[in-house]
Amino acid sequence: MTTTAELQKRWAAVMMTNYGTPTVALARGEGAKVWDVDGTEYLDLFAGIAVSSLGHAHPAIVEAVSRQVATLTHTSNLFAHEPGIGLAERLVALIGVVDSRVFFCQDGATANEAAYKIARRHGWESDPSGGRLEIVAAESGFHGRTMGALSITGSLAKRDPFLPLPGPVSFVPYGDFDALRAAVTERTAAVFLEPTLGESGVIPAPAGYLAAARAACDEAGALLIIDEVQSGIGRTGEWFASLGQGVTPDVITLAKGLAGGLPLGACIGIGPAGQLLRPGDHGSTFGGNLISCTAALAVLDTIEQDHLLEHVRTLGQHWADSFESLNHSLLAGQRGSGLWRGLLLTEPVAGKVEKAAREVGFLVNAVAPDVVRLAPPLILTITEADMFSAALPAILDAAVSG
Ligand code: PLP
Repeated sequence: MTTTAELQKRWAAVMMTNYGTPTVALARGEGAKVWDVDGTEYLDLFAGIAVSSLGHAHPAIVEAVSRQVATLTHTSNLFAHEPGIGLAERLVALIGVVDSRVFFCQDGATANEAAYKIARRHGWESDPSGGRLEIVAAESGFHGRTMGALSITGSLAKRDPFLPLPGPVSFVPYGDFDALRAAVTERTAAVFLEPTLGESGVIPAPAGYLAAARAACDEAGALLIIDEVQSGIGRTGEWFASLGQGVTPDVITLAKGLAGGLPLGACIGIGPAGQLLRPGDHGSTFGGNLISCTAALAVLDTIEQDHLLEHVRTLGQHWADSFESLNHSLLAGQRGSGLWRGLLLTEPVAGKVEKAAREVGFLVNAVAPDVVRLAPPLILTITEADMFSAALPAILDAAVSG
């Protein structure tokens, strides 16, 4: 049997050094539980960075993917197929705006690359002299690691080693209404925003912020592009966090939870924005692969049949209440929506909390020095959620003394 130590040694010998060597090597999962290669069981409260929406080895995904892989796996985009068209139809129906259009890709960054190109098309069409090419994005926003997605990602540490990046991009402090209004002008092709900053610590936009962005874009003639790569498909208890707030963007990008663990991204042009890419403008060999689309259909079906949006809202509130009622010197509070929560610490020891949680069987994520992120599978049960709440005081104690 391969051990974690052996896999770590092999990882360090062959993997590029962009990631650190992982502490845990996982072997299998079932529901919200995973087991490492040494046989240790964990409750997975992070779902592979907010991805495994139906947990692990969900029967609906296993059945759909097994059936599809035994039938037809790949066609490229030169051939039509039922799962891809069916999934696009379902997404457009969920958006609820006629004439919307879908482009499928592999992940969050490639969904945002497609959206970036839509923004460029819009810019050139509305000002052929090149006066409308600027993107407005948030200082602490995250949109991915490809050069285009990186160019609209706020973090200097991530961007600086790779300059020059596409532009012009102007960054505004997230949640500052006046700064946003001032930045969006007739030179703006598009505003890119997350409904909640995921990678910066589960920081929800203040009430009315997306609506203000919508109004600023309408006034200036810019597109509003909402990155729902992390928030989309149920994480907040809504299919789309933006639409849940009554705001209809021009473009929504999706990935993470969409196919429940299979690689799939989607860029949805809503209404006229769905027509901006012209024949030949963009493409992807693997995008909208039959297996991933079949898995995504199983995810959408299961969310609907099992009433998971309501479950996420109820369980998320239950969790929030239990964290709020916990009195511990290291816990300053919590924030987030649905099953997407940040535990706010009074000291920058999130790494120690992550480690202490792991040592008693919970996988959580130190997303910022003083924030622990929880983004479990949407099928997490109340019993499982309560197990973590009950264990939390001792986990925080261990982090304080560790
Ligand atoms: N956009 C958001 C909001 C994200 O949270 C992420 C990843 O964390 C991305 C884009 C990039 O997604 P990917 O890693 O699949 O390229």
